[in-house]
Amino acid sequence: MSDYVIIDAHVHTYQTREVGLQAKQGNTTTDYAGTVDELLPIMEKANISQAVMVNMLPLAEMKKAAVERLPEDLSQAQRDDALKEIDARMLGRLERRNSWTCDLTREHPNLIPFINLDPLQDDTTMTTELLDKVNNQGAKGIKLHPGSQWFYPSDRRLWPAYRTAQEMGLPIIFHAGRFMSPETYSRPNNFVEVLESFPELTLVMAHIGTGYENEAVSLSKDFHNLVFDCSAIIGSINPDGELTEERLASLIREVGVERVMFGSDFPWFDPADSVARLLHLEFSEEEKQLLFAENAIRIYKL
Ligand SMILES: [Zn+2]
Repeated sequence: MSDYVIIDAHVHTYQTREVGLQAKQGNTTTDYAGTVDELLPIMEKANISQAVMVNMLPLAEMKKAAVERLPEDLSQAQRDDALKEIDARMLGRLERRNSWTCDLTREHPNLIPFINLDPLQDDTTMTTELLDKVNNQGAKGIKLHPGSQWFYPSDRRLWPAYRTAQEMGLPIIFHAGRFMSPETYSRPNNFVEVLESFPELTLVMAHIGTGYENEAVSLSKDFHNLVFDCSAIIGSINPDGELTEERLASLIREVGVERVMFGSDFPWFDPADSVARLLHLEFSEEEKQLLFAENAIRIYKL
Protein backbone atom coordinates (compact mmCIF):
# COMPACT_ATOMS: atom_id res chain seq x y z
CA MET A 1 0.00 0.00 0.00
CA SER A 2 1.22 3.49 -0.79
CA ASP A 3 1.48 6.47 1.55
CA TYR A 4 -0.07 8.86 -0.94
CA VAL A 5 -3.30 10.65 -0.20
CA ILE A 6 -5.50 9.28 -2.96
CA ILE A 7 -8.74 10.67 -4.36
CA ASP A 8 -10.58 8.78 -7.05
CA ALA A 9 -12.03 11.66 -9.07
CA HIS A 10 -14.24 9.50 -11.29
CA VAL A 11 -16.53 6.72 -10.06
CA HIS A 12 -20.12 5.74 -10.80
CA THR A 13 -22.47 4.35 -8.18
CA TYR A 14 -25.75 2.51 -8.61
CA GLN A 15 -28.56 1.63 -6.26
CA THR A 16 -28.53 -2.08 -7.02
CA ARG A 17 -26.35 -4.61 -8.82
CA GLU A 18 -29.07 -5.07 -11.45
CA VAL A 19 -29.13 -1.40 -12.37
CA GLY A 20 -25.35 -1.16 -12.39
CA LEU A 21 -24.89 -4.22 -14.58
CA GLN A 22 -27.48 -2.90 -17.01
CA ALA A 23 -25.59 0.41 -17.21
CA LYS A 24 -22.32 -1.39 -17.89
CA GLN A 25 -23.80 -3.21 -20.86
CA GLY A 26 -21.12 -5.85 -20.66
CA ASN A 27 -18.33 -3.32 -21.40
CA THR A 28 -16.02 -4.00 -18.54
CA THR A 29 -12.81 -5.32 -17.09
CA THR A 30 -14.31 -6.08 -13.65
CA ASP A 31 -17.17 -8.02 -12.09
CA TYR A 32 -18.23 -4.98 -10.07
CA ALA A 33 -21.70 -3.56 -10.62
CA GLY A 34 -21.09 -0.20 -8.96
CA THR A 35 -22.84 -0.53 -5.62
CA VAL A 36 -21.60 1.46 -2.65
CA ASP A 37 -21.15 -1.82 -0.76
CA GLU A 38 -18.61 -2.84 -3.36
CA LEU A 39 -16.89 0.53 -3.57
CA LEU A 40 -16.22 1.23 0.12
CA PRO A 41 -14.07 -1.87 0.81
CA ILE A 42 -12.05 -1.23 -2.38
CA MET A 43 -11.39 2.34 -1.24
CA GLU A 44 -10.28 1.04 2.12
CA LYS A 45 -7.99 -1.55 0.55
CA ALA A 46 -6.47 0.87 -1.96
CA ASN A 47 -6.09 3.71 0.56
CA ILE A 48 -8.48 5.95 -1.38
CA SER A 49 -9.77 8.59 1.02
CA GLN A 50 -12.45 10.16 -1.20
CA ALA A 51 -14.29 9.25 -4.38
CA VAL A 52 -16.16 11.64 -6.66
CA MET A 53 -19.42 10.19 -7.96
CA VAL A 54 -19.99 11.44 -11.51
CA ASN A 55 -23.37 9.77 -11.84
CA MET A 56 -25.67 10.29 -14.80
CA LEU A 57 -28.68 8.85 -16.63
CA PRO A 58 -28.96 8.14 -20.37
CA LEU A 59 -32.24 10.05 -20.47
CA ALA A 60 -32.53 10.40 -24.26
CA GLU A 61 -32.25 6.66 -24.73
CA MET A 62 -34.72 5.98 -21.91
CA LYS A 63 -37.16 8.43 -23.46
CA LYS A 64 -36.80 6.80 -26.87
CA ALA A 65 -37.59 3.39 -25.37
CA ALA A 66 -40.67 4.79 -23.61
CA VAL A 67 -41.91 6.46 -26.80
CA GLU A 68 -41.46 3.22 -28.71
CA ARG A 69 -43.65 1.44 -26.18
CA LEU A 70 -46.60 3.79 -26.79
CA PRO A 71 -49.62 2.09 -28.43
CA GLU A 72 -49.81 2.82 -32.15
CA ASP A 73 -53.53 3.57 -32.23
CA LEU A 74 -53.43 6.79 -30.18
CA SER A 75 -55.07 9.92 -31.56
CA GLN A 76 -52.76 12.91 -32.06
CA ALA A 77 -54.11 14.53 -28.87
CA GLN A 78 -53.63 11.33 -26.86
CA ARG A 79 -50.13 10.95 -28.22
CA ASP A 80 -49.24 14.55 -27.33
CA ASP A 81 -50.46 13.95 -23.77
CA ALA A 82 -48.54 10.68 -23.55
CA LEU A 83 -45.34 12.38 -24.74
CA LYS A 84 -45.76 15.11 -22.14
CA GLU A 85 -46.24 12.46 -19.49
CA ILE A 86 -43.08 10.65 -20.64
CA ASP A 87 -41.03 13.87 -20.45
CA ALA A 88 -42.31 14.53 -16.93
CA ARG A 89 -41.50 10.96 -15.90
CA MET A 90 -37.96 11.22 -17.33
CA LEU A 91 -37.32 14.51 -15.51
CA GLY A 92 -38.58 12.93 -12.29
CA ARG A 93 -36.16 10.05 -12.71
CA LEU A 94 -33.24 12.41 -13.26
CA GLU A 95 -34.14 14.43 -10.17
CA ARG A 96 -34.41 11.25 -8.06
CA ARG A 97 -31.07 9.97 -9.35
CA ASN A 98 -29.43 13.27 -8.38
CA SER A 99 -31.09 13.22 -4.96
CA TRP A 100 -29.98 9.65 -4.37
CA THR A 101 -26.38 10.57 -5.24
CA CYS A 102 -26.45 13.60 -2.94
CA ASP A 103 -28.13 11.65 -0.12
CA LEU A 104 -25.32 9.08 -0.08
CA THR A 105 -22.87 11.67 1.03
CA ARG A 106 -24.69 12.23 4.32
CA GLU A 107 -24.08 8.63 5.29
CA HIS A 108 -20.70 8.44 3.53
CA PRO A 109 -18.98 11.82 3.66
CA ASN A 110 -16.02 10.39 1.71
CA LEU A 111 -18.27 10.06 -1.37
CA ILE A 112 -18.55 13.38 -3.23
CA PRO A 113 -21.69 14.02 -5.30
CA PHE A 114 -21.76 15.49 -8.82
CA ILE A 115 -25.15 15.81 -10.47
CA ASN A 116 -26.38 15.23 -13.99
CA LEU A 117 -28.36 17.73 -16.06
CA ASP A 118 -30.03 17.01 -19.38
CA PRO A 119 -31.11 18.83 -22.56
CA LEU A 120 -34.64 17.57 -21.86
CA GLN A 121 -34.86 20.10 -19.01
CA ASP A 122 -35.97 23.61 -19.92
CA ASP A 123 -33.84 26.55 -18.76
CA THR A 124 -35.70 27.07 -15.51
CA THR A 125 -35.85 23.39 -14.56
CA MET A 126 -32.15 22.98 -15.27
CA THR A 127 -31.07 26.00 -13.27
CA THR A 128 -33.46 25.26 -10.40
CA GLU A 129 -32.24 21.67 -10.16
CA LEU A 130 -28.62 22.81 -10.15
CA LEU A 131 -29.13 25.47 -7.48
CA ASP A 132 -31.18 23.14 -5.30
CA LYS A 133 -28.64 20.31 -5.38
CA VAL A 134 -25.66 22.61 -4.85
CA ASN A 135 -27.15 24.88 -2.20
CA ASN A 136 -29.24 22.35 -0.29
CA GLN A 137 -27.77 18.92 -0.96
CA GLY A 138 -24.02 19.40 -1.21
CA ALA A 139 -23.41 18.74 -4.93
CA LYS A 140 -19.88 19.79 -5.90
CA GLY A 141 -20.13 19.77 -9.66
CA ILE A 142 -21.91 18.61 -12.80
CA LYS A 143 -21.42 15.50 -14.91
CA LEU A 144 -22.45 15.48 -18.56
CA HIS A 145 -22.07 12.63 -21.03
CA PRO A 146 -22.66 13.85 -24.60
CA GLY A 147 -22.29 10.32 -26.01
CA SER A 148 -24.92 8.69 -23.87
CA GLN A 149 -27.18 11.74 -23.47
CA TRP A 150 -27.09 12.36 -27.25
CA PHE A 151 -26.12 16.01 -27.44
CA TYR A 152 -23.22 18.06 -28.77
CA PRO A 153 -21.38 20.09 -26.13
CA SER A 154 -22.19 23.24 -28.11
CA ASP A 155 -25.95 22.52 -27.86
CA ARG A 156 -27.57 25.77 -26.72
CA ARG A 157 -29.96 23.85 -24.45
CA LEU A 158 -27.00 23.34 -22.11
CA TRP A 159 -26.02 27.02 -22.07
CA PRO A 160 -27.94 27.77 -18.82
CA ALA A 161 -25.96 25.03 -17.06
CA TYR A 162 -22.64 26.33 -18.39
CA ARG A 163 -23.50 29.92 -17.50
CA THR A 164 -24.61 29.10 -13.97
CA ALA A 165 -21.67 26.77 -13.37
CA GLN A 166 -19.26 29.47 -14.50
CA GLU A 167 -20.91 32.04 -12.22
CA MET A 168 -20.85 29.69 -9.23
CA GLY A 169 -17.36 28.36 -9.85
CA LEU A 170 -18.66 24.81 -10.28
CA PRO A 171 -16.69 22.35 -12.39
CA ILE A 172 -18.35 20.43 -15.21
CA ILE A 173 -16.92 17.06 -16.14
CA PHE A 174 -17.69 15.72 -19.60
CA HIS A 175 -17.16 12.29 -20.95
CA ALA A 176 -14.70 12.92 -23.79
CA GLY A 177 -13.36 10.77 -26.58
CA ARG A 178 -14.14 7.36 -27.87
CA PHE A 179 -14.13 5.32 -24.71
CA MET A 180 -17.08 2.89 -24.67
CA SER A 181 -19.29 5.09 -26.78
CA PRO A 182 -19.12 6.42 -30.32
CA GLU A 183 -17.16 9.66 -30.48
CA THR A 184 -19.75 11.46 -32.60
CA TYR A 185 -20.82 13.75 -29.78
CA SER A 186 -17.85 13.74 -27.47
CA ARG A 187 -14.67 14.18 -29.44
CA PRO A 188 -12.49 16.90 -27.90
CA ASN A 189 -12.74 19.34 -30.80
CA ASN A 190 -16.51 19.49 -30.26
CA PHE A 191 -15.81 21.43 -27.05
CA VAL A 192 -14.12 24.43 -28.67
CA GLU A 193 -17.21 26.62 -28.73
CA VAL A 194 -17.96 25.95 -25.04
CA LEU A 195 -14.36 26.66 -24.06
CA GLU A 196 -14.39 29.90 -26.04
CA SER A 197 -17.78 31.04 -24.76
CA PHE A 198 -17.13 30.22 -21.09
CA PRO A 199 -13.48 31.09 -20.50
CA GLU A 200 -13.83 30.95 -16.72
CA LEU A 201 -15.72 27.65 -16.58
CA THR A 202 -13.68 24.75 -15.19
CA LEU A 203 -14.20 22.20 -17.93
CA VAL A 204 -12.94 18.69 -17.21
CA MET A 205 -12.36 16.36 -20.12
CA ALA A 206 -12.57 12.82 -18.75
CA HIS A 207 -10.30 10.07 -20.07
CA ILE A 208 -8.02 12.76 -21.66
CA GLY A 209 -10.26 12.39 -24.71
CA THR A 210 -9.31 8.75 -25.34
CA GLY A 211 -8.82 8.03 -29.03
CA TYR A 212 -8.37 11.75 -29.73
CA GLU A 213 -5.52 12.51 -27.35
CA ASN A 214 -3.86 14.84 -29.85
CA GLU A 215 -6.94 17.06 -29.96
CA ALA A 216 -6.95 17.13 -26.14
CA VAL A 217 -3.28 18.15 -26.09
CA SER A 218 -3.78 20.90 -28.62
CA LEU A 219 -6.85 22.28 -26.77
CA SER A 220 -4.90 22.26 -23.50
CA LYS A 221 -2.46 24.75 -25.06
CA ASP A 222 -5.27 27.11 -26.13
CA PHE A 223 -7.54 27.00 -23.08
CA HIS A 224 -6.27 27.52 -19.56
CA ASN A 225 -9.67 26.49 -18.09
CA LEU A 226 -9.46 22.97 -19.52
CA VAL A 227 -8.38 20.15 -17.18
CA PHE A 228 -8.51 16.36 -17.36
CA ASP A 229 -8.92 13.09 -15.54
CA CYS A 230 -7.06 9.92 -16.48
CA SER A 231 -9.93 7.57 -15.62
CA ALA A 232 -10.41 4.57 -17.89
CA ILE A 233 -7.40 5.52 -20.00
CA ILE A 234 -5.13 4.47 -17.13
CA GLY A 235 -6.99 1.17 -16.86
CA SER A 236 -6.50 0.68 -20.59
CA ILE A 237 -2.68 0.71 -20.56
CA ASN A 238 -1.51 -2.13 -22.70
CA PRO A 239 2.22 -2.84 -23.10
CA ASP A 240 1.59 -4.50 -26.45
CA GLY A 241 -0.80 -1.88 -27.82
CA GLU A 242 -0.61 1.80 -28.68
CA LEU A 243 -1.25 2.98 -25.14
CA THR A 244 1.90 1.98 -23.29
CA GLU A 245 2.93 3.29 -19.85
CA GLU A 246 5.42 5.60 -21.56
CA ARG A 247 2.77 6.93 -23.93
CA LEU A 248 0.32 7.73 -21.13
CA ALA A 249 2.99 9.35 -18.97
CA SER A 250 4.11 11.56 -21.84
CA LEU A 251 0.50 12.43 -22.66
CA ILE A 252 -0.05 13.53 -19.04
CA ARG A 253 3.11 15.64 -19.26
CA GLU A 254 1.97 17.20 -22.53
CA VAL A 255 -1.35 18.42 -21.12
CA GLY A 256 0.31 19.29 -17.79
CA VAL A 257 0.85 17.18 -14.68
CA GLU A 258 -0.91 19.85 -12.60
CA ARG A 259 -4.02 19.54 -14.79
CA VAL A 260 -4.74 15.81 -14.59
CA MET A 261 -6.69 14.10 -11.80
CA PHE A 262 -6.47 10.44 -10.94
CA GLY A 263 -9.68 8.50 -11.52
CA SER A 264 -10.69 4.92 -12.16
CA ASP A 265 -14.14 4.91 -13.79
CA PHE A 266 -15.37 2.28 -11.31
CA PRO A 267 -17.23 -0.06 -11.86
CA TRP A 268 -15.91 -0.33 -15.42
CA PHE A 269 -12.39 -0.44 -13.96
CA ASP A 270 -11.02 -1.50 -10.58
CA PRO A 271 -9.86 1.53 -8.56
CA ALA A 272 -7.20 -0.55 -6.77
CA ASP A 273 -5.78 -1.65 -10.10
CA SER A 274 -5.82 1.94 -11.41
CA VAL A 275 -3.94 3.11 -8.31
CA ALA A 276 -1.29 0.42 -8.88
CA ARG A 277 -0.93 1.53 -12.49
CA LEU A 278 -0.39 5.18 -11.61
CA LEU A 279 2.13 4.24 -8.91
CA HIS A 280 4.07 2.43 -11.63
CA LEU A 281 4.27 5.38 -14.05
CA GLU A 282 7.46 7.43 -14.30
CA PHE A 283 6.57 10.43 -12.18
CA SER A 284 8.36 11.99 -9.25
CA GLU A 285 6.86 11.77 -5.78
CA GLU A 286 5.71 15.40 -6.00
CA GLU A 287 4.08 14.77 -9.35
CA LYS A 288 2.27 11.73 -7.99
CA GLN A 289 0.96 13.78 -5.09
CA LEU A 290 -0.52 16.21 -7.60
CA LEU A 291 -2.03 13.47 -9.72
CA PHE A 292 -3.37 11.36 -6.88
CA ALA A 293 -4.99 14.11 -4.83
CA GLU A 294 -3.72 17.68 -4.90
CA ASN A 295 -5.09 18.50 -8.34
CA ALA A 296 -8.53 17.14 -7.42
CA ILE A 297 -8.54 19.04 -4.12
CA ARG A 298 -7.75 22.27 -5.97
CA ILE A 299 -9.93 21.76 -9.06
CA TYR A 300 -12.95 20.24 -7.30
CA LYS A 301 -12.54 22.36 -4.11
CA LEU A 302 -12.65 19.26 -1.88
ZN1 LIG B 1 -17.28 7.43 -16.29
